[in-house]
Amino acid sequence: MNRGEEVPSGPVDLALFGDVLGQDGTLHRGVWLSVDGGRIVGIGSEAPEARATKRLPDHLILPGVIDAHVHTRSSLLEGIEATTRAAAAGGVTTVLDMPFDAPADPVDTPERFEAKRDAIGREAYVDVALYATFPPTGPLANLEPLARLGAAGFKVSVYGSDPVRFPRIPDGRLLEAFERIADIGIPVAAHQENQEIVDALIADAVAAGRHEPRMHARTRPPVAETEATGRLLEIAHWTGARVHVVHGTLPRTFDLVARHRADGGVVRAETCVQYLLLDEGALDRLGGRAKCNPPLRAREHVEGLWSYLQDGRIDLVTSDHSPYPLDEKDVRDIFAARPGLPGVETLPILLYSEGVDRGKIDLARFAQLLASGPAEAFGFARKGAIAPGYDADLMVIDPNARWTVEERELTTSVGWSPYQGREVRGRVVRTFVRGALAFDGSDVTVQAGHGRFVGPERPDA
Ligand SMILES: [Zn+2]
Repeated sequence: MNRGEEVPSGPVDLALFGDVLGQDGTLHRGVWLSVDGGRIVGIGSEAPEARATKRLPDHLILPGVIDAHVHTRSSLLEGIEATTRAAAAGGVTTVLDMPFDAPADPVDTPERFEAKRDAIGREAYVDVALYATFPPTGPLANLEPLARLGAAGFKVSVYGSDPVRFPRIPDGRLLEAFERIADIGIPVAAHQENQEIVDALIADAVAAGRHEPRMHARTRPPVAETEATGRLLEIAHWTGARVHVVHGTLPRTFDLVARHRADGGVVRAETCVQYLLLDEGALDRLGGRAKCNPPLRAREHVEGLWSYLQDGRIDLVTSDHSPYPLDEKDVRDIFAARPGLPGVETLPILLYSEGVDRGKIDLARFAQLLASGPAEAFGFARKGAIAPGYDADLMVIDPNARWTVEERELTTSVGWSPYQGREVRGRVVRTFVRGALAFDGSDVTVQAGHGRFVGPERPDA
């Protein structure tokens, strides 16, 4: 270890031995990580005095994953418990939850925000941060109070999926809200698909009797995403709002982000693991089980995203975990199937297997995309890195393990996965949340209620 060994004095709660990824992206092989009071207190080559010790030679000790895009309550059958339990089993130690709660309870008032924050304290296995939202009409007086309560950002949609829960926000309203959010300083995100383009193409498809799965991708073409992204970035440009671009599926979406950044805009942008692992051909194979919004894309776009991952044009990778039961997915008419895939549990290891193990991204970049990137984007100052003072949120991977995704063995409420049968290299064998063992390689080992609410902290705040 350079820059001085940091060895704590006196016994610490926990000492872990393994290959530890440092904050600067260097992999320190065969070192000791010391944890005390739920925080990381040191990394060094000497074994510290510790109340508990675990040797994990040749295992990767990595920062716990922050999945910055999950929907715990978009389906009434899921919930905070199910999502965060699956998160713990997958190496995800913090999730950022969307505000579009079913049946008709968007998190747009301080009362709803506080109620959800309280529910985290009872139901969550891992830490949870929250987006808030605002309605399409009426006063915007709740924006500041929601930010004061600890909202990590505001999330809306320019494509209406549900008139109350997930409504379309008109452009004039976006402009007004972005002006106020610019003063508040937290990011604003908007599901970006052009409603007129998609609605017209679906109407044509339905009129022609075309309901087959591939029509989901055909009726939501690339221009629907890039037009809406450009519109949001322009509104951000002229208001100064800090913007977070969710689930970009096309290299061009990230080209627009780069242009906005070059013009001085503060922006972060994510893709989701399904846009890297699946292409639109999955719709033919899996039908409604491959339906998500935006849709899976042509192979050329998938390859383009991989090259953007390593060179830094994509800031983070999320799951957009949105699980629906199979009776809402396996339907004949693709337009009647629910959009959304389960994925919080498989996000880390599938990105590891397909990205790091295959040499498409390096380990330092992997940790940026899944841990330090989301922490920085949303101001989680104590999360996302292995360094003294940070929360001891850790994911341990056995890089030599080989296994095959078997959907019935996953810790999911819905019992299916779009990655069924996929061969995986590497396996998550331990998860620690603030120093507590949350997953031991077979079972989730903390109770509901271990998870805590996480709000943004700015270094200057
Ligand atoms: Zn989503």
